[in-house]
Amino acid sequence: MLRIKKSALDKLLAQAEKDYPYETCGLLLGKSQGEVRTVFGIYETPNANPDRKNDRYEIDPKDYMKAEDKAREFGLEIVGVYHSHPDHPDRPSQFDEERAFPDMSYIIVSVQKGKAVSYRSWELEGDKFKEEEILTFGF
Ligand SMILES: [Zn+2]
Repeated sequence: MLRIKKSALDKLLAQAEKDYPYETCGLLLGKSQGEVRTVFGIYETPNANPDRKNDRYEIDPKDYMKAEDKAREFGLEIVGVYHSHPDHPDRPSQFDEERAFPDMSYIIVSVQKGKAVSYRSWELEGDKFKEEEILTFGF
């Protein structure tokens, strides 16, 4: 299950709209406790994919490390990744599934014609994605 601070969710949805028609991406900073990951903030990363930003995203390892440092500063860790699907549903692609890591949450935002219309979160069960519940908290 994913618990996410309302302001962090609003921020990543706004980022997904801003980056349309390209895929947005970034990292979820929070804490992991058993089956529950709690997100307190996001770390926006540029889409480092060189030529398919409309349907692929890539996070530069240097940005990943910077996010890790930022998380540590606040006593947090990276608990997941978010990205958007411009003009596509919020379901993971096979490519998304293949490169996912266990014990992480993957939020996918569907952006239709520039509007973030829906979002869902996914986690690996074995080597397959299953949807997980998202709860918001705070403001
Ligand atoms: Zn995707």
